[in-house]
Amino acid sequence: MSDAQPHPALDAILERMSAAAGDRPRAHLLAVSKTQSAEAIARVAEALRARQADGPLAFGENYVQETLAKQPALGGLGIEWHLIGHLQSNKAREAAAAFDWVQTVDRLKLVEALARHRAPEQAPLNVLIQVNIDDETSKHGCRPEEVDALAAAIVNQPQLALRGLMAIPAPDPDMDRRRTAFRRMRVLFDALAARHSGIDTLSMGMSEDYALAIAEGATMVRIGSALFGARGPKTASTDVPETP
Ligand SMILES: *Cc1c(COP(=O)(O)O)cnc(C)c1O
Repeated sequence: MSDAQPHPALDAILERMSAAAGDRPRAHLLAVSKTQSAEAIARVAEALRARQADGPLAFGENYVQETLAKQPALGGLGIEWHLIGHLQSNKAREAAAAFDWVQTVDRLKLVEALARHRAPEQAPLNVLIQVNIDDETSKHGCRPEEVDALAAAIVNQPQLALRGLMAIPAPDPDMDRRRTAFRRMRVLFDALAARHSGIDTLSMGMSEDYALAIAEGATMVRIGSALFGARGPKTASTDVPETP
């Protein structure tokens, strides 16, 4: 691949993604950069650019404040920013301004807040509906039967562009159960795509299970530790719990 920007971890991931896709187009890689420094992000962005001449350099962050702190140092690289952490409604204004995508839309209140705060001069904010596909212990993500109503609300908002679905299946050591969760997401995704235009993104699969997710139809995988190495401690402690 590129001699100028050696990055064996990235090469291994891209190869495995291609193999998992078989004849289908390779899924998109979202580099999950939470807790990583701006320097580490720039290194991966440059290595990625050397391997894909066009297409966005997509990076995922979990915390609004942490992202705002890093963005000024990364302005010239053409990074597309995805919010993949739970979003409190009181952070919707900052998120709507700072991100290109929000992958964690899971309730009507958030749809309305993001639409209200996305500036008309900005391109519409790309959104994914986060589905709580199998994890009863998680409070985040809507139930599968709520997808339709949320989708209808999103497509009514000109400041938002509905692109698809996102899930974080429970980290079950049994890969067959994870496969079942990915399959159920694929069924929901196909149903959504049949009802709405512009649906092209099924975001599922992380460092441990991205090949499985791609085999089951993921179009975007979110990879952190396999790309950057193990994470240090969380750097942003400024996000406060949402007050109801
Ligand atoms: C941290 C995170 C990832 C990446 O996890 P890894 O196991 O490090 O690849 C993906 N998606 C979400 C929502 C995350 O919070």
